[in-house]
Amino acid sequence: MAVVRPFKALRPRQDLVERVASLPYDVMNRKEAKAMAKGNPYSFLHIVRSEIDFPSSTDPYDKKVYMKAKSNLKVFEDDGILVQDENAMIYIYRQIMNGNEQTGFVGSTSIDDYVNNIIKKHELTLLSKERDRISHFDACDANTAPIFLTYRDEDRLNEILTEWTKNEPEFDIVTEDGVGHVVWAISDLELCKEITERFSEIESLYIADGHHRTASAAKVALKRRQENPNYNGNEEYNFFMSVIFPESCLNIMDYNRVVHDLNGLTEDEFCDLIKENFIVTESKGPYKPVIKNTFGMYISKKWYRLELKKGAIASEHILDTIDAAILEKLVLKNILGIQNLRDSSRISFVGGIRGLKGIKARADELDGVGFSMFPVSMAEIMEVSDSGLIMPAKSTWFEPKLRSGLFVHKFDSFIVPAGDGLISEETKEYIESILATVERKDGNQKEFVQAVTEVLHSLGPVLEKHPEYQENNILARIVEPERSFQFRVPWVDDEGNVQVNRGFRVQFNGAIGPYKGGLRFHPSVYLGIVKFLGFEQIFKNSLTGLPIGGGKGGSDFDPRGKSDDEIRRFAESFMTELYRHIGPDVDVPAGDIGVGGREIGYLFGHYRRIKGAFENGVLTGKGLTYGGSLIRPEATGYGATYFGLQMLRHDKTDYKNKTVAVSGFGNVAWGVCKKVRDLGGKVVTLSGPGGYIYDPDGVTTQDKIDFMIKMRTNPNGKIEDYAKKFNVEFFPGKKPWEQKVDIVMPCATQNEIHPQDAENIIKNGVKYIIEGANMPTTNEAVQVLQKAGIIIGPGKAANAGGVATSALEMSQNSMRIAWTAEEVDLKLREIMKNIFNSCVRSSARYGFGYDLIAGANIAGFTKVADAMISQGIY
Ligand code: NAP
Repeated sequence: MAVVRPFKALRPRQDLVERVASLPYDVMNRKEAKAMAKGNPYSFLHIVRSEIDFPSSTDPYDKKVYMKAKSNLKVFEDDGILVQDENAMIYIYRQIMNGNEQTGFVGSTSIDDYVNNIIKKHELTLLSKERDRISHFDACDANTAPIFLTYRDEDRLNEILTEWTKNEPEFDIVTEDGVGHVVWAISDLELCKEITERFSEIESLYIADGHHRTASAAKVALKRRQENPNYNGNEEYNFFMSVIFPESCLNIMDYNRVVHDLNGLTEDEFCDLIKENFIVTESKGPYKPVIKNTFGMYISKKWYRLELKKGAIASEHILDTIDAAILEKLVLKNILGIQNLRDSSRISFVGGIRGLKGIKARADELDGVGFSMFPVSMAEIMEVSDSGLIMPAKSTWFEPKLRSGLFVHKFDSFIVPAGDGLISEETKEYIESILATVERKDGNQKEFVQAVTEVLHSLGPVLEKHPEYQENNILARIVEPERSFQFRVPWVDDEGNVQVNRGFRVQFNGAIGPYKGGLRFHPSVYLGIVKFLGFEQIFKNSLTGLPIGGGKGGSDFDPRGKSDDEIRRFAESFMTELYRHIGPDVDVPAGDIGVGGREIGYLFGHYRRIKGAFENGVLTGKGLTYGGSLIRPEATGYGATYFGLQMLRHDKTDYKNKTVAVSGFGNVAWGVCKKVRDLGGKVVTLSGPGGYIYDPDGVTTQDKIDFMIKMRTNPNGKIEDYAKKFNVEFFPGKKPWEQKVDIVMPCATQNEIHPQDAENIIKNGVKYIIEGANMPTTNEAVQVLQKAGIIIGPGKAANAGGVATSALEMSQNSMRIAWTAEEVDLKLREIMKNIFNSCVRSSARYGFGYDLIAGANIAGFTKVADAMISQGIY
């Protein structure tokens, strides 16, 4: 009986659905496909018809075309245009055309069912067409478009379709041809199970459309079985993706014919022959048959009605009684001499969607004869399929067509790569040799060594699966900054003394875009801190899906206790050197610890003065009056909270009534307090270097949140001020991790959580750590926490909302537009969701299970590594 099972679909990001969705690959020619995708980099035609990305002289069946489909699919996935669902689900797809709805299930169906004729066919396939899709699916490692199946209606399945579609859909779009497409994901996994059970009672599924794709998917599966003799039949390649509609809702259209000549007959001779088997009546206008055994005929600009004479067909065999077969035998073969419809160049087929006008236009163009047909019925198709027969060629035309790109079924979605994530001795040695070199050269930069160690230890299985990374010595290259500067920053204090600080900028990796990363002004800053932050930034920026490379900078200047004038003089001196190394397309700094809107303002003002040009894309985090983006100040904290929301949702919970321990009281902490409050939770701790406060009512009211900004901008502000102002307890010299809370969000600085803190966190029953700061947890503490089952959202993913919004600021600057706060917030939410999904996906794919740290490192790494390889040895 039929197998229909859930799968983890790769689906377009909600805001891009309309741009991604394309017509199926086989309903247009190359030129039309190119025109349809023009100006739309998101069109799924770049995957299903990847030859459009090559000059027209390129052979569409060349290997490189299939490789392009594969790389385009990867780019769509890496850039978050397509996002894979975390859970395997069954989906519902509804199409609406001219007021008619067809609603069916989307699931994965079995190759074995196809081979064993439980999934029934009614068409022959051509090997040449199969070869094309075999190469395509094999290269993409995925079914890129669903097969259109149908089944005899079943009450409970119909009921499920009716009931579930009362829920809010995932999206509801209307494509340019006026067809509506609505999709629901059945998130109730029990219900998905029931659907699978119901289908297991159904005897047969019938292919309505997609015979070549099904045959190709089956051949790919059989090939993979041969390559993997130990296959267990559960691997995703044993299944192909289908949309399965109940028979009753389907709309089969007429599929009409135009013969290009009269086979040497005069029109009168031809008509006389027709009259032998048909009653011919001239029609006043275009004639569309309304009952079986009648046909329209268009010749010499006139329309006729043809009615089959009784007894003209003696046989009652199903294949002889279908209109397409009658016309084929009595007219196309016997009179017009077309022996094989599939091969003949003398006949064109006009889909019913083009209407009678389509027949007329083609017949006029060729001076030929057109025939309009009465559509076949679903019952006829099922009877033919059940009898193991083949329908007459070109007899069915289903409308509307299923859109491609709404679902992709990946073959590897449940498969852990070879070795279950284990790595070979050679790969281990390679990683250790790189770490030894870093230790030897930069052993005094302990934060940098720590960051490199953490990332490289996640990459073993990736290197195992991609030998090209090792062959190109990517690790040795990625740990070495492309460029780093250290410079003198002299400035004059309020007493007239000349002071000197050190400035740094590390341009770590520009493979995927201009360097981007903040500036930190803090006395602890030295090359090792800037390099650790720059290294982390490579992966963080890559994870955002935006084209930005990794960099970082700063100074050991301490803004605490400095006057406004001193900060300005320092910033101007800093920029006097920095300006020669940065630019909107070169390197775009932003803020970090000690650098907020005020500092960015002074830095930008001085850059503008030196350059004599208003290049506001050179810095982000600017004020709103000169190119800043709404939400940028809050973005890192908001983003971390959104990332945390995904972690909670993963476990079917949210922030409501949860308590959160936050460290720091700066920019990131402030954004977290606001967003956690908005989402129904409360932040109960804040901290500074000297201790922390515990506020049992939560930092939730506006005056408390506003007071945080006051503390941060006051050069002498400290966390005790909050305790005094709001009459809460201050714990000097302690860290907030000793409090009993649900969630921990470190938002101050690196290495705030050591193994001893980890023990406290475990003891307090915390389940989630969401890192707002960069590398706040030591590698040793991570091990302790992970062993206890605590889920850690790593900084390079969780705090990526800041840089992502900076990139949105850059886009607004280059487009000279300003998005509303809601628009930016919505984009930020989506980006954080995509980052979370990439982490989950990469972690599972490389055998780490649900480990967001490994997932973030891997997802961030592969895109950069691929770009580095493409760009040669740099
Ligand atoms: P910030 O506004 O300067 O705030 C940092 C806060 O942490 C200040 O309240 C500071 O207090 C406190 N702090 C510093 N050292 C501490 C310690 N040892 N223990 C407890 N508290 C301490 O900086 P931020 O922009 O919020 O950045 C915080 C973290 O987030 C950093 O790791 C940064 O790299 C990361 N991050 C920031 C962004 C962003 O967009 N700003 C983006 C991504 C990541 P004092 O002022 O009293 O020192």
